[in-house]
Amino acid sequence: MSYQPPGVVPARHNERIGRSDERRRIQVAAPLPNTQQAMRRRNLSLVLHAVAAHGPLSRASVAARVGLTRAAVSTLVDELIRDGLLVELGPSRPGTVGRPGSALQLNEHGPAGLGAEIGVDHLAVCAVDLAGRVRARTEAASANRDCAPAPVLTQLSALVRQVAAEAELGGLRPVGLAVAVPGLVARGSSLVVRAPNLGWEGVDIGPELRAALPGLPVTVDNEANLGALAELWRGGHDPAPQDFMHVSAEIGIGAAVVLDGQLLRGTHGFAGELGHVPVRPEGPECACGGRGCLEQYAGEEAVLRASGLSPEEAAAEHPGPGGRIAVLAVRAAIGDQPTRRALRDAGAALGIALAGAVNLLDPEKVVLGGALTPLAPWLLPALERELGRRVADPARPGSGAVTVSRLGPDGPLLGAANSVVQAVLDDPAGFRDPAGAGEPPGIRGSDA
Ligand SMILES: [Zn+2]
Repeated sequence: MSYQPPGVVPARHNERIGRSDERRRIQVAAPLPNTQQAMRRRNLSLVLHAVAAHGPLSRASVAARVGLTRAAVSTLVDELIRDGLLVELGPSRPGTVGRPGSALQLNEHGPAGLGAEIGVDHLAVCAVDLAGRVRARTEAASANRDCAPAPVLTQLSALVRQVAAEAELGGLRPVGLAVAVPGLVARGSSLVVRAPNLGWEGVDIGPELRAALPGLPVTVDNEANLGALAELWRGGHDPAPQDFMHVSAEIGIGAAVVLDGQLLRGTHGFAGELGHVPVRPEGPECACGGRGCLEQYAGEEAVLRASGLSPEEAAAEHPGPGGRIAVLAVRAAIGDQPTRRALRDAGAALGIALAGAVNLLDPEKVVLGGALTPLAPWLLPALERELGRRVADPARPGSGAVTVSRLGPDGPLLGAANSVVQAVLDDPAGFRDPAGAGEPPGIRGSDA
């Protein structure tokens, strides 16, 4: 398998993914100079974003949306078609009902983003096309807890190669991989500082993955961050909320904050550690060194114990990825009272911890995502009750409303793959097809 890395570096509108690729990091550090070439690259991105958000669009509609002349847009569109990012749908035959004549759309056979997720008990990899559609996906049960990183990364690399090959068979060109991990990732690097539920500390997973997947740029980010970005880009909201908190959980509990449409990372990249916000200051000791953290009340293991189950029993009852959560969901659904009580208490603890954040940040929404989604029906009532009691002004319309992500447990994985796609949309010139493939076979020609 041969990958074609981008020749140049994406200019990012915001801090989207861990910028772990060294070449990329160096170049991203310096903003593009305000030259004519830099302006052309920005305009290419404007046009591509317009088609991504509103396509299929005619050249005239693109020009109207981006505020450039029709001639300027035509030149940019020609370049994007030549580079294999856009295709022009053929003019519809007279008398037929169908696509608008010579409308532009994203190339379904263009660059692809690969996303991977390292979970506590599973690995997953997917490929998405420029429109964010999942074109290949695989997952494998994998007992990653307290497992050394090397065998996990070897297995992950094999899954990535499998999905990349499948994407290539579908006519796509993988241009980057982003990996979601359940732990703290140092800002702007691929260093997993601490992933307590994997037992990893100070592990830089980038070099090993890059060595196993030559030519493929690799970035690494926290799973909660990527879940929030997936919600922003692909959450099915219209318009997408610009200020929200996204809460997800596997064994730990993570949150991510999006303000003004941008992910809030914090000084070290560690923002969003909701699981270690104290709920009861004199509560049980937590692995972080504190007491009474949210994780001690609403983390998966705490909820299992409160339901009268050990994590091992739950895993045996429902083996495979997401099995322990599934056990809780099944028991709650059939009315098991200890499980329902445990989830109610977890929801209340989540509400207490979130109330502080909502009072501080005034988000439009709180989104429950990731592994929490199957449990939402039993968490939500107590969570909303606590929020309602504690948010300074519960009458603020829309403030702190709680919703459940439509992306389900795959949110972080989709966020990872789509972070690569966003990098393409942000700087298409950096992801030119080196083969100069332009339009793949079977795609109708341009009428330009
Ligand atoms: Zn803690």
